[in-house]
Amino acid sequence: MQQVTLSNGTVMPILGFGVYQIPAEETEQAVSAAIAAGYRLLDTAAAYGNEEAVGRAIKNSGVRREELFVTTKLWVQDAPAQENTRRASETSLNKLGLDYLDLYLMHQPYGDVYGQWRAMEALQHEGLAKAIGVANFYPDRLLDLILNNEITPQVNQVETHPFFQRADYQELMREHGVQIQSWGGFAEGKNDLFTNPLLAGIGKEHGKSVAQVVLRWLTQRGVVAIPKSVRPQRMAENIDVFDFELTDEQMAQIATLDTGSSLFFDHRDPEIVSWLAKRRLT
Ligand code: NAP
Repeated sequence: MQQVTLSNGTVMPILGFGVYQIPAEETEQAVSAAIAAGYRLLDTAAAYGNEEAVGRAIKNSGVRREELFVTTKLWVQDAPAQENTRRASETSLNKLGLDYLDLYLMHQPYGDVYGQWRAMEALQHEGLAKAIGVANFYPDRLLDLILNNEITPQVNQVETHPFFQRADYQELMREHGVQIQSWGGFAEGKNDLFTNPLLAGIGKEHGKSVAQVVLRWLTQRGVVAIPKSVRPQRMAENIDVFDFELTDEQMAQIATLDTGSSLFFDHRDPEIVSWLAKRRLT
């Protein structure tokens, strides 16, 4: 597995396994199958409601803790965010059955962001999170966070797929030492991604599926990807992307698919802010 080295020296696999929308009762089996298929980076979140199941799969995997890279995410916290973030991190660690996280991400750019971030900085200083980062931060908010805090996020996990490619944003992140990570790398199949004629044609040239072309395209750009699947056959397909290379011409062709906007939601849209920023985990 290829790796990326984050700005603080933490080494992270470039391809992992995401568990969003996998029901808690199916997650242990899915994660066990993913680990058996060779995935070592696991991406969950407090908001997904399946951290305990991820923890059981880790415990039963027989894989040494230091060989795994486990990410979870902090949900939006009210003030006093420093106390609440500390408590939320303890809850996640307990549910996962771990004594440290490899990566702890602030899930949304809402709530007491600065209080949350300072608490996350403290967690990193104490070794409870090897790396810390954010998700769903647009450039303005990311830069403001960077400019006004001690630690620059090591990762920003944002919607990134062939229809919303984030090339300029990736460059800005690179300038500041922030690793881009893709969520929704397949756009969850929206826009008929899996039957897209351009991607299918490129796949045919390499004897690869559309899913493999997309994951190769992401990782070849240096974007960390975390595809989700509950099917072992697709898990195996999705990790089998390191034995071919897209040509410059194919990369340029895929660049033409970019629409420059989200297929899900814009985190700066007032309706989305109201919906997400007010949600609390029970
Ligand atoms: P995704 O990975 O873009 O797409 C998952 C969908 O693709 C599922 O319906 C899956 O179906 C299907 N699929 C997977 N492999 C396939 C293949 N080889 N051929 C055909 N279909 C395939 O969607 P996502 O789960 O939203 O994103 C990935 C991960 O990013 C999440 O699991 C989560 O960890 C993270 N995420 C983070 C945020 C955030 O706010 N930070 C938001 C969304 C997601 P089956 O399962 O039936 O195979």
